[in-house]
Amino acid sequence: MSSVTVVGAGVIGLSVAHELAAAGHRVRIVAARDAAASVSAVAAALWYPHDVALTGEVLGAARSTYDRLARLARDPATGVRMRAGTVLSRRPEPDLSWTEALPRYETATDLPHGPGVGGVRCVVPVAQTDVYLAWLRASVLALGVTIESAEVGTVGDVGGDVVVVAAGLRSAELLGDDDEAYPIRGQVVRLANPGLTEWFTDGDNPAGLTYVVPRAHDVVCGGTGEVGSWDERVDPAIESGILSRVRELVPALADQPILSRAVGLRPGRSRVRVEAVAGHGRPVFACYGHGGAGFTLSWGTATRIAELLRADGHNGADGHNGTDGRKGAHGHNGAHGQNAAQGQNGTDRQNGTQANSLYR
Ligand SMILES: Cc1cc2nc3c(=O)[nH]c(=O)nc-3n(C[C@H](O)[C@H](O)[C@H](O)COP(=O)(O)OP(=O)(O)OC[C@H]3O[C@@H](n4cnc5c(N)ncnc54)[C@H](O)[C@@H]3O)c2cc1C
Repeated sequence: MSSVTVVGAGVIGLSVAHELAAAGHRVRIVAARDAAASVSAVAAALWYPHDVALTGEVLGAARSTYDRLARLARDPATGVRMRAGTVLSRRPEPDLSWTEALPRYETATDLPHGPGVGGVRCVVPVAQTDVYLAWLRASVLALGVTIESAEVGTVGDVGGDVVVVAAGLRSAELLGDDDEAYPIRGQVVRLANPGLTEWFTDGDNPAGLTYVVPRAHDVVCGGTGEVGSWDERVDPAIESGILSRVRELVPALADQPILSRAVGLRPGRSRVRVEAVAGHGRPVFACYGHGGAGFTLSWGTATRIAELLRADGHNGADGHNGTDGRKGAHGHNGAHGQNAAQGQNGTDRQNGTQANSLYR
């Protein structure tokens, strides 16, 4: 059994700690900010691979995370819900490669959001961040993980046989070997929920990135994706732009009061970094750069870290391999990609029925 230190307590650090502790490792988290004060707490936390390079690994991680979150959604205490919604598109030939990670979906044209607007309609997990991160934190504590509050300067500052760097945007600085990480500033405003359940994202909106993600009591309205901006202050002018865009697309939001507002710096990178990092005198693993998709990829990349440790000879207690052998909510069976590819005609290939009922 190895002692592992995970640097970071956002959704990635907590998910990694969970998987390693479940595999029988002795795990300690060291984090400057608790999950509730991390970028993860700002997220709309919709399952959708936004602001991330869509590699095969990313799509695989998105797929397995979908399965895991779908299972968690069966328990209301997790704060995860399965919600129908639409990824709008205003381009003639949008990149739909991300749909490979979905169990099923429908394409739609001439949506009421404007002329020429089409999209992909699907049911995906949405995590209410305050509830989900608290649940995840409690789950890792229950697995025996300890959480220490401290600012780390370099990887060498922390103990442990093995170190996993899951410090979001600051991971590159801790490792000192990466100049490919950058912030993608995101601003949101949360309105009272008038009873909405359906989400949408409108990344091609000529007036700016727009998304609406209803939760139990509020609606997360965004957004921005300012590459290279380190500014964590709320900008009132940006907020008023967000409000006018979402209210134009969803008139029901017109009179809803503002409940809260926030800014977060997404950990952008040319590619998500999930790998062993040499040169630190002991095994060190990187797990960061998830961009606008940290929730979407969380369990998949955490599982990958557990695999990398095992491949490096670090077995947990009792040789437990830490993988969660349960089947996904939609029975992930290796034929998954076919379902998505064939799903463009709105047919659910798993049972051969029309998928329209998904959205009712
Ligand atoms: C507005 C907005 C909307 C988003 N919407 C979505 C969405 O709908 N779906 C989705 O999947 N993703 C979304 N994201 C992206 C998602 O929030 C991130 O990808 C995710 O939070 C990254 O998680 P993380 O754990 O890597 O980083 P963080 O949440 O930033 O956590 C980093 C952790 O590392 C710690 N740390 C950092 N430096 C140090 C140090 N030197 N010493 C000790 N500890 C340190 C921090 O204190 C913190 O605990 C959104 C992001 C934003 C900003």
